[in-house]
Amino acid sequence: MKTSFFQYTLPELEVLFKENNLVPGLPGKLFNWHYKLQNVGPYEEDISKGAKEFISQNLSFDLPEIDTVHESADRTVKFLFKFQDGKKVETVLIPSKKKYGICLSSQVGCAMKCSFCHTGLQGLERHLQTHEILGQFLAAKQWLVKNRPQDSHIATIVFMGQGEPLHNFDAVKGACEIFITRQGFSMSMEKITISTAGYLPGLERWKAEMPDVNIALSLHSTFKEKRDELIPINKAYPLDKVLEIVNQIPKTKKRFVIYEYLLAKGFNDTYEDAKSLGETLQGKRAFVNIIPFNPFPGSKYQRPTREEIDMFKAELDEFNVPSLVRFTKGDDILAACGQLNSKAL
Ligand code: SF4
Repeated sequence: MKTSFFQYTLPELEVLFKENNLVPGLPGKLFNWHYKLQNVGPYEEDISKGAKEFISQNLSFDLPEIDTVHESADRTVKFLFKFQDGKKVETVLIPSKKKYGICLSSQVGCAMKCSFCHTGLQGLERHLQTHEILGQFLAAKQWLVKNRPQDSHIATIVFMGQGEPLHNFDAVKGACEIFITRQGFSMSMEKITISTAGYLPGLERWKAEMPDVNIALSLHSTFKEKRDELIPINKAYPLDKVLEIVNQIPKTKKRFVIYEYLLAKGFNDTYEDAKSLGETLQGKRAFVNIIPFNPFPGSKYQRPTREEIDMFKAELDEFNVPSLVRFTKGDDILAACGQLNSKAL
């Protein structure tokens, strides 16, 4: 049975090729060919016949199938990708000038059951493998090259799609390593962000094992009862402990921790909420993304008014904690944060 080429980090591919007595420089050349140049055609002439035979007998290059594509009026693109076992996940391309950011899924469904999240309703079906995470990027890129050749550059990656990335640590770590490998995509670590609900077992591994990519913590409330309701794993992994570890994570002094704050009308948008948030993050290398809640069919929270949003931000500003209000894109196709659900299409 063949293994996906996109499953291997460069050191893993080097071991595989060494075990099969193939020339040492070949894995780097293949990374360059498939990731940097993003060629899909036959290899260059200087790959030996034996190597070509080994590759064709042992490695597959299949990408997930595009099940559906929805294009938003603001140029956001939402894909529903189907894997070989029929499981589906969503991936979103978010436009920014002539480039895109891509929002990748790490699991089919999610076990965390956050109360504001469309994906959380689905429960966890399975983890994605590294090649399925990479496959979302490559298939979306191919779609862009074909359909929007003038602006097909994907400049940033966020793990904010379906799933808790740190619950699938090894596969996400493998994908990050491939994204940053010099012979591969050669992406800067600053261009990759992993978002977590505060899954402590993964956070505890991060500092020693994860490349120095950005971390975003879904904070949403500093009050225990409210955060328990929004993010039920808060009961098992208390915020104090999560914040302690998160603050040790950026390995580069210049780097900020991103705190996501989903603002729900009348729930976590009061002065007390802003004050507690400001006091918690004051003096830390913190940046807050204030995300007004996007209601979806059946959701229990409401979106605050523009005035209420501005007031919350002004109150937070008093604590000198930098923040921005993020009006998510793709609202008209349910592509905004917390709205991905591959069963709801
Ligand atoms: S918000 Fe993220 S961690 Fe929470 S249920 Fe949704 S996908 Fe899972």
